[in-house]
Amino acid sequence: VVLASILPGTHLPYSKRQRYTYQLDEFKAGQIVSISLGARRLRGVAVEEMKDKAQSGIKIKKAQTENWQLPTHNLLLAKDISEHYRTAESLVIKTMLPPQGPLPDMVKTARSVFSHVPTLNSEQQVAADRVIKSLGTSAAFLLEGITGSGKTEVYSTIAKKVLAQGKQVLLLIPEISMTPQQAKRLEHYFGSAVMTWHSGLTPKERRERWAALASGEPALVLGPRSALFLPLPKLALIVLDEEHDGSFKQWDQEPRYHARAVARMLSIRAQCPVVYGSATPSLELLQQAHQKSITHLTLTKRYGDSQLPNIALIDVRGMPAKVIFSPASVEALGQTLDQKKQSIVLINRRGSAVVLLCRDCGNIWRCEKCDRPLVTHLDPSPKLACHYCARDYPLPGMCSKCKSTHLLMRGRGTQKVEQELRRLFPKASIARLDRDISRSKKKVKALAHSVTSGDVDILVGTQLVAKGWDIEKLRTVIVLDTDQGIFQPHFRSHERTVQLLWQVAGRAGRRQDRGDVYIETCFPEHATYQAVQQRSLAAFYEKELAERKKFGLPPYSRILKIIITGDSLTERESKTLSIVASLQKMLAADSTLARTTTLLPAQSQINSRGQTETHVSLTTPDPRVFFSVLPADATVDVDPEEI
Ligand code: ADP
Ligand code: ZN
Ligand code: ZN
Repeated sequence: VVLASILPGTHLPYSKRQRYTYQLDEFKAGQIVSISLGARRLRGVAVEEMKDKAQSGIKIKKAQTENWQLPTHNLLLAKDISEHYRTAESLVIKTMLPPQGPLPDMVKTARSVFSHVPTLNSEQQVAADRVIKSLGTSAAFLLEGITGSGKTEVYSTIAKKVLAQGKQVLLLIPEISMTPQQAKRLEHYFGSAVMTWHSGLTPKERRERWAALASGEPALVLGPRSALFLPLPKLALIVLDEEHDGSFKQWDQEPRYHARAVARMLSIRAQCPVVYGSATPSLELLQQAHQKSITHLTLTKRYGDSQLPNIALIDVRGMPAKVIFSPASVEALGQTLDQKKQSIVLINRRGSAVVLLCRDCGNIWRCEKCDRPLVTHLDPSPKLACHYCARDYPLPGMCSKCKSTHLLMRGRGTQKVEQELRRLFPKASIARLDRDISRSKKKVKALAHSVTSGDVDILVGTQLVAKGWDIEKLRTVIVLDTDQGIFQPHFRSHERTVQLLWQVAGRAGRRQDRGDVYIETCFPEHATYQAVQQRSLAAFYEKELAERKKFGLPPYSRILKIIITGDSLTERESKTLSIVASLQKMLAADSTLARTTTLLPAQSQINSRGQTETHVSLTTPDPRVFFSVLPADATVDVDPEEI
């Protein structure tokens, strides 16, 4: 019998003790056990053998062992995440434990690892070779490849090598339901060695896949950010595709983490390379590439030499607000239809109209919980919806304040644009893609099929239409209303807009004929649009980096956001004051720290659960320095996407 310290997989508050001592017959690091903690029966993981014998007098309970074990690198990763993000280690371990229910007995199904990866062109081969040479080390790569350059084929070539050695590959993608095409292509290359991981799996599928991976079966795991927590004892390659995508950050629940950073931690702990891929890299990774802490690989040519599209800025100043499409866009759409080619219309807002407004008293309908303006939806059934907390309300017939029946829908969303397209082009086949559709995996699959097979003439949708689609007959891309994106008060808004425009433009003309992109804007002279139009992404990056440096924003600093909640305004205010005071005291005592740190004014906002929270943020070289002065029960977001 030995003594071992056990990490329970549950949410013990950060300030509470995380590890507890139990008896085991034999110690194995990572062994999954079940323990009784207080009145609860919990699963946990054995992390360390306690060498010194128990003190006499204390009775130490026995832990029950299960047949499964987490790889050692998972334990190290949980510790890294806990320290970096100031989050409870037990909570991270919880995300790593097997799904509830009986696991299959040790799995030993030999999956056929066949592979039909195509031969690479020379540029692709150079990139793949660099990574292949680094297998077995924790090297990091940024693979910057323009849309259509065949990044997936590069990943696949490296993955083929890894699978042939009987090892495991982790390929992270932003939104699994949005990329049925990429999944299909990978399945074509690797057959049943591809193992997808997503929220739509049944409990039984989850258990089977978890067990297969934990027993070291060679596989290419395709999944969203949460797949980082799977047990992969033979992990030999991590790929994070579309690394610029915002969905890699978990911000609304703990552990609050960025998959980009956690993938790096995992690569170091598992001693395997990590490859970040994008056509529009994040400023974070570009700066690391400049500093040479990550190797920059580039693909400059589209596969098969298809050309990048023409990009035109259409000045819509003075166009009546009721008109949805500029004449130039209508003409382009009409011509494309005549040529039996396809078009995409991007409008980054779903629903029919933005707000419902009373013409007589100006009343705007807002969410009862969040106080945000509600969005009118007409399809599949009429309703008002809160895009923040997902609450629905019936569409009113009259104003709740003045009883007027003169209600106006102002602004436009995907449904309104779809309606207008049907009016303009009654014979065209038109499909819509937004969150209302993408919630259903089945609908997305059906849509992907009809779009790629050429049945759909015009695809209208939110930013989801910009993601990874490879549409053969796509000729024209129209972008409506990105101006609001540019003028958002977020420091990343320019970066995000450029990425979106670049990604959607990249959908066009991926085959023989060249595509055309029309961007409707009231600010054609704005530097962000100019950079996109002149395709000088590098110039945009340079300017944006200089700007970030000037204002001491990421990637030249890091952000620590302290999230303060409370039952009442007074409670929140007093907590905020005391936190701000202790931060100020710390800065006053250390002039070097004070020089490099900026404490920003506190801001209140409503969270996705409808509660008001106060945020205190600071920009600083190392957020960890401040952990010591935070109250034990404080919630923080380290490296948040927005201030
Ligand atoms: P990216 O992800 O970089 O935008 P894709 O991976 O979608 O580019 O590749 C664009 C297209 O070119 C895809 O249809 C892909 O199958 C094809 N392709 C890329 N590389 C090769 C290759 N080496 N051999 C054959 N086809 C390729
Ligand atoms: Zn009214
Ligand atoms: Zn709401």
